[in-house]
Amino acid sequence: MNSIIVISGPSGCGKSTLIRKILQWRKDLVFSVSHTTRQMRDREADGKDYHFISKPEFELMIKGNRFVEWALVHENYYGTSIDEIHSKSAGREILILDIDVQGAKQIRKKFPEAHLVFVAPPSMEELQRRLLKREKTLNDHLRRRLDEAKKEMREYLFYDYVLVNNDVDITARVLNGIINAYRYRSFRQGWLVERILKERL
Ligand code: 5GP
Repeated sequence: MNSIIVISGPSGCGKSTLIRKILQWRKDLVFSVSHTTRQMRDREADGKDYHFISKPEFELMIKGNRFVEWALVHENYYGTSIDEIHSKSAGREILILDIDVQGAKQIRKKFPEAHLVFVAPPSMEELQRRLLKREKTLNDHLRRRLDEAKKEMREYLFYDYVLVNNDVDITARVLNGIINAYRYRSFRQGWLVERILKERL
């Protein structure tokens, strides 16, 4: 069985910072690198943040059933490949996926044992402030992001956990606790129990 933690949340909620922090702390956690057709940003690296591919390449992968889940997000394709899941969560590591709500729903169907975590901003005002830092002006694009954020937040009950990201250090510690609990789920401990049971007295 695969060990999967899904993190979703509107852009600007601090998801990536949280994941980066947790990955530094935990050696048992591996980041799932998605495929995307969006442009690479400054400080991003191909193969590390995303596998950056063209639209035709992505569509070919869809046709070839190469994705566990995929979605169109802000007019770009994003998807988690089957290869990524299989190569990175075959051992005892936990795979962490940063994906949107549409993707989380597909993962839930295919991997019911996955834990789904939703990260929300402390307020819409704070989200707007954080997005304004990136966009500089309150343009249509930013307004659309805020509307999309609300739409995503309305799906919170679909998730197992909701973290309101007031303070990234505190939220990271809470997320770490959730991952610790997941680590000891019975389906992950089978190999250990089996080993004990095999002992001859
Ligand atoms: P960004 O372009 O800011 O890196 O990501 C935009 C959105 O796409 C985020 O909400 C992120 O969680 C989501 N996303 C990233 N990778 C995937 C993926 O593989 N599948 C899905 N469904 N969403 C993804």
